[in-house]
Amino acid sequence: MRTAVVLLTRDLRVHDNPALAAACANADRVVPLFVLDPALSTLSPNRNRFLHQALADLCESLRGRGGDLVLRSGDPVAETIKLAGEVGATMIGMAADVTTYAKKRETRLQEECDRQRIALRLFPGVTVVDPGTLRPGGGGPAYRVFTPYFRSWQSAKWRDEVATPRKIELPSGLAAGRLPAIPGGHSPEAAEGGETAGRRRLSSWLHAIDEYGDRHDDMPGDATSRLSPYLRFGCLSPLAVAEAAKKRSAEPFVRQVCWRDFYYQVVNAFPRISTEAYRPGASDEWRDDPDALKHWQDGLTGVPVVDAGMRQLRAEGWMHNRARLITAAFLTKHLGIDWRLGLQWFFRWLLDGDVPNNSGNWQWVAGTGNDSRPYRRFNPIRQAHRFDPEGVYVRRYIPELKAIEGPSVHEPWRLPDEVRNGLDYPGPLESHRDEAVWLRP
Ligand code: FAD
Repeated sequence: MRTAVVLLTRDLRVHDNPALAAACANADRVVPLFVLDPALSTLSPNRNRFLHQALADLCESLRGRGGDLVLRSGDPVAETIKLAGEVGATMIGMAADVTTYAKKRETRLQEECDRQRIALRLFPGVTVVDPGTLRPGGGGPAYRVFTPYFRSWQSAKWRDEVATPRKIELPSGLAAGRLPAIPGGHSPEAAEGGETAGRRRLSSWLHAIDEYGDRHDDMPGDATSRLSPYLRFGCLSPLAVAEAAKKRSAEPFVRQVCWRDFYYQVVNAFPRISTEAYRPGASDEWRDDPDALKHWQDGLTGVPVVDAGMRQLRAEGWMHNRARLITAAFLTKHLGIDWRLGLQWFFRWLLDGDVPNNSGNWQWVAGTGNDSRPYRRFNPIRQAHRFDPEGVYVRRYIPELKAIEGPSVHEPWRLPDEVRNGLDYPGPLESHRDEAVWLRP
């Protein structure tokens, strides 16, 4: 009787899950295990809630197949080895991952497995194409520039999707452990976690995907997929999402999914991406201004499109990509504040917050990463008029400006004094007033 443990981390799904499928194909008894790791649970209340919802959903799916989700808490390596000993497992499977934390966990698990004579097998599943498999022509461990990566990613052979296991048999007498109550998040309008919710969102999104190319920057239209939290926790398989989009010839969308893979392969080769400038020789000097940082975090900079984005982040644990670009550029390029502080704030709130995408994108905006035009500046006012022409997005998130009609909501400092003085909304930040020139294009 062969027994396998599958250590689930951020592949919280039964469909297209290579580690789970291989265990079911090769062992008679399979233990799907999740270890609640105290080192990770305090990073973001929003993600912690989403995670628990995803675990509850996965538990249901596994029970529906005759199995269960076995839960433990503590150090994932110690708990996995202990459980493997209890059930007499000869194999442990898990999805390979790229961050420093994940790699250390893998290395420690490998050492323990060697000691106990258990086979550890790592599987794909966190990205479409495995990080590290595509190498730039000019040498080096990873692509630094997106377009050549995209070309090689598109023409690479993608793995085949694996079938969802029909039946899962646990070793008899094993105590599954109890899922704790779903903790409260901090964003009242956060999306619900789980594979079921993710698949529902994917199938409705596929009806709208044709319009993505034209509408992905339409801030009030909210016309992007909002699949990112489900991809973050592996409630959806990135490969299955990319294949479904490819089938519909939705090239602009597939390209965005590739950005996600791109940053994973960057982190695989450059693990210090959340703390160190990634571009060799990048200027990485910043101003210390806690007051301006606090105004930015609170959505009170006095620049409506920036404040709307920051308030969307708090309300939903998610922000439109265009708003992420505008708010991040405002912090780094206009206020001159360190991208690491912005990254930490986003990481605390975002449901999709992860090291590769958060750090990669922050560095791109700050000009310390892979952008081919690192000195680019975004004018938030111009961006606002272009991507929220009637001010609908801004009014949605800033109730103090609800009464201001049309695009003039983007520049409250231009309103007649009697209107402006009646608003409960701040003027531009002290440290930012010198930029009045650009505020009046
Ligand atoms: P869609 O537009 O529908 O795109 C589909 C998928 O493609 C997304 O779900 C995502 O997985 C991927 N994708 C799209 N754009 C990007 C991008 N620029 N980089 C990498 N992948 C992308 N994304 C995260 O998943 N986690 C983060 O922590 C994160 N932090 C960011 C920080 C900043 C400063 C910026 C500018 C962007 C950040 N992004 C991050 C990228 C992007 O904003 C989100 O992936 C996107 O807004 C998610 O919404 P969506 O699912 O509707 O995306």
